[in-house]
Amino acid sequence: MFTHEVGHKWLNNGPVWFPEGFNEMQTGYQLVASGLADPSYFATYFNIALAGLYHNPYRNAPDDEAEEKFWNDGDYIWLLYWRGFSYAFHLAGVYEKETGEPNAWKPMMEAVKPFVDDFTAEKFLDAMAGLMDRDRLEKDYRRYILEGKDFDFFAEDLPSGCAITRREDGAPQLVITDPAAFALHFK
Ligand SMILES: [Zn+2]
Repeated sequence: MFTHEVGHKWLNNGPVWFPEGFNEMQTGYQLVASGLADPSYFATYFNIALAGLYHNPYRNAPDDEAEEKFWNDGDYIWLLYWRGFSYAFHLAGVYEKETGEPNAWKPMMEAVKPFVDDFTAEKFLDAMAGLMDRDRLEKDYRRYILEGKDFDFFAEDLPSGCAITRREDGAPQLVITDPAAFALHFK
């Protein structure tokens, strides 16, 4: 929780999926990159989000509905935390796929740094388009954030060294398949 709140020094603006969801990615990243936690802790932390999102009653609510009702119901609050975290993880995988660079999070955060105090989705998409294919980026943003569709987590889009499997209850689950490759995401 402390690491998450420190992250808000930088991520504190814009639609909730960014300052809360991306800050959850930042939290998991920071705990591992600083040496406070093992890379496997990132998987543990992300799996709480994946299970929480899967079982959320508003799992497929469009973003405008969730942003508007954020304060009405705790399930809308957590929806945006976990959806944003899942989206950040997804984009990190796409970035690695397109560039071959396993530490995707640092360049992604550096790309948004210039407007982090005045964040908008439009500026975000423009900045991310400098890092990955724009058509793909806009399609995924529409599908996973605006429309609230389930994340596909296609194997070819995942960060290296991990897989997404299904729990018995159907919820997606991040499994580390190659600890050495997975650790490179935090170097
Ligand atoms: Zn927060």
